[in-house]
Amino acid sequence: MCFQWWMKAASVAVLCAALCIRGPRPRRPGLRRYYADESICFTRLVFMTESHPLAAPPEGWGLLAGIPVRAGEPCPSDARVLERVRRDVARARVLPPGCTVEGARLMVADPACVVFTRETREAAAACRAHLARGGIAALGRYGRWEYGSIAHAMGQGRGWARAVDAAAAAVAG
Ligand SMILES: Cc1cc2nc3c(=O)[nH]c(=O)nc-3n(C[C@H](O)[C@H](O)[C@H](O)COP(=O)(O)OP(=O)(O)OC[C@H]3O[C@@H](n4cnc5c(N)ncnc54)[C@H](O)[C@@H]3O)c2cc1C
Repeated sequence: MCFQWWMKAASVAVLCAALCIRGPRPRRPGLRRYYADESICFTRLVFMTESHPLAAPPEGWGLLAGIPVRAGEPCPSDARVLERVRRDVARARVLPPGCTVEGARLMVADPACVVFTRETREAAAACRAHLARGGIAALGRYGRWEYGSIAHAMGQGRGWARAVDAAAAAVAG
C-alpha cells in the first residue's frame, strides 16, 4: 500500500491515444515526432507502420499519440481526450490528403515514466536491497525504478540469466 502510494507520487502516467487512419501512408515521416508546443495536447506521435509495416491493412496506418499526465489524477473522459487528439493531429498537419480517422481508442499507462529525485533513488535502493535479501532480483524500468527502453530491460534480464547460469555451472563444476 505504502509502496503503491510512493510509486504514484514519483511517476507520470501517459495517455496513449491510438488512431486508425484510412488513406495513404505518410512518406518518410520518421518513427516518432516530438512536440514541445504546449498548446498541443501530446508530446509525441509514433508512426506505427514505420517500424511495423504489417501492423495495419495496406489501405491504412496507425498513429499513436502520447499525452503525459500526473499519475493518479482524475483524467478527462476518453471521448474528450480523443476529440482533442484528433483536433491537434489536424493542427500538426501529419495526415496526408485523403486520410480519414476511422477509429480511435485510449489506453492508460500508469505509471509510465518514473520521476527521479534523491528520495526516489534512496527508496528504490532500499526496496531493491530488501528484495535481494529475499533472493529476488528487481530488474527493468519499474523493478529498478530508472529510465530505460525495452532493449535496456531485456539486456538486464539476459545479463541476470547469464549470471545465474554461470553460478550454477560453477557449483556443478
Ligand atoms: C508510453 C510509453 C512509451 C514507450 N515507448 C517506448 C519505445 O518506443 N521504445 C522503447 O524501447 N521503450 C519504450 N518505452 C519503455 C518500455 O516500455 C519500458 O522500458 C519497458 O517496457 C520496461 O520493461 P519492464 O519489464 O521493466 O516493465 P513492463 O514492460 O511494464 O513489464 C512489467 C509487467 O509486470 C506486470 N505487473 C505489474 N504488477 C504486477 C503484479 N503485482 N503482479 C503480476 N504482474 C504485474 C505488468 O502488467 C507488466 O506486464 C515506453 C514506455 C511507455 C510507458
